Amino acid sequence: MRSTLVAFFLIWLELICLYSAEGFSANGVSESEGMNREAKPNIIVIFCDDLGWGDLGCFGNPTIRTPNLDRMASEGQKWTQFYVAAPVCTPSRAALMTGRYPIRNGMTSAKRAVLFPDSGGGLPPDEITLAEMLKETGYATGIVGKWHLGHLPQYLPTSQGFDSYFGIPYSNDMDKIGGPGYSAEVRKDTSYYPEIEHYNVPLMRNTQIIERPADQNTLTKRYTEESIRFIEDHAAHPFFLYLPHSMPHIPLFASENFRGRSSRGLYGDVVEELDASVGAILDTLRELKLDTKTLVVFSSDNGPWLSYETHGGSAGPLRAGKGTTFEGGMRVPTIFWWPGKIQPGTKQDLGSTLDFMATFTAIAGGELPENRKLDSFDLSGVLFGDQESPRKTMFYWTNAKLHAIRSGPWKLHVKMREAVNYGKESELGKPELYHLEKDISEKYNVADKYPEAVESLLKSMDEHLLDIDPHEDMLAIPIPK
Ligand code: MG
Repeated sequence: MRSTLVAFFLIWLELICLYSAEGFSANGVSESEGMNREAKPNIIVIFCDDLGWGDLGCFGNPTIRTPNLDRMASEGQKWTQFYVAAPVCTPSRAALMTGRYPIRNGMTSAKRAVLFPDSGGGLPPDEITLAEMLKETGYATGIVGKWHLGHLPQYLPTSQGFDSYFGIPYSNDMDKIGGPGYSAEVRKDTSYYPEIEHYNVPLMRNTQIIERPADQNTLTKRYTEESIRFIEDHAAHPFFLYLPHSMPHIPLFASENFRGRSSRGLYGDVVEELDASVGAILDTLRELKLDTKTLVVFSSDNGPWLSYETHGGSAGPLRAGKGTTFEGGMRVPTIFWWPGKIQPGTKQDLGSTLDFMATFTAIAGGELPENRKLDSFDLSGVLFGDQESPRKTMFYWTNAKLHAIRSGPWKLHVKMREAVNYGKESELGKPELYHLEKDISEKYNVADKYPEAVESLLKSMDEHLLDIDPHEDMLAIPIPK
């Protein structure tokens, strides 16, 4: 009897050891799976179109209500000096996707994504996208929203590392068919509401057009529902969801529940619907208990389109907007959120959407693209610890031209495109120097007072230009003026 008991005890002990070795936890999920989960968090990038630095409550807007983004910012990190790599849609998105300045990845302008279908027409397939990098390390990858990196089959998201795609292939103002001029109508009546029939933009699922023209009234609503479905379907597996909203790029559309709500007018309605979308997505993560396993980043592709007056956003105190290399064109409102993991607070460090590649690679345990120059820094030491950002410099490119450099607090312009839109570009006879931390609005040119700073920044620009090896597509395609 005693020996039977001893044998039973030994078997029991062995079972305990066996389970310990396998690391099974009380809920039946193995620890190795759990560690895998911990090692590979979900990643969601919510990317607005033409949302200005000053359009959110948490970035100082006094009339647009953004309670969900304000909460996201208070629970996460708000970055006040965060940049895109170009002041317009296509090159900005190409830089986010590749971690490379557009001059390197071949996508320096929107025209390259639309007007040159034979020689260019899209993000070159030899570029490695965030989706391809994450897919390689075991992620499910989905995009919901506006792609704008080529609409021909070989350039669509499903050819660039995404398992699934739901959205419009380019900007919502393209394919205009009739109807009044948008800006003229807005100037006549700020409450102007466009007709969907005047924009023959297709809505696609994977490589198929499923609706044309897309009913833009419900785009934000349907992107949100589709994103939530993607999250629910992939709850048990690491996923990457890229959600580049079509709004608040003109023509502005909001679903019925949001129209007429904001004292800021239709633009405010549209941003409040985007805020509600963020709330619904974060709520879904909380309900599925994925909030502590998911990094969510919110940002915008470029500054506000000021020539559309009240239908364009606000850059707050920053100078100018979309299409320019002033701060208003390229500094964007950015929030990182990952409860329990990110140190909450406001960060004044420099960061860029270019840095998503190195940061996500580090977080996901992936491998950085090889055999090419990257312009990407790993920001995880700032997000999860108390390190300083490794990014100390930002170059301000537009089309294939280098306009300016930021290094520490200094910004030096050698070229600029003035005013509210794609104004006339001018080569400056003398470079202009601004101290961005003391002069956020780039008002006071102090080049004469700090000649050593001017000289040092010019040298850095020269070195950067020597380091650029333009993508071969850049050489094959004429650069649009
Ligand atoms: Mg844009």
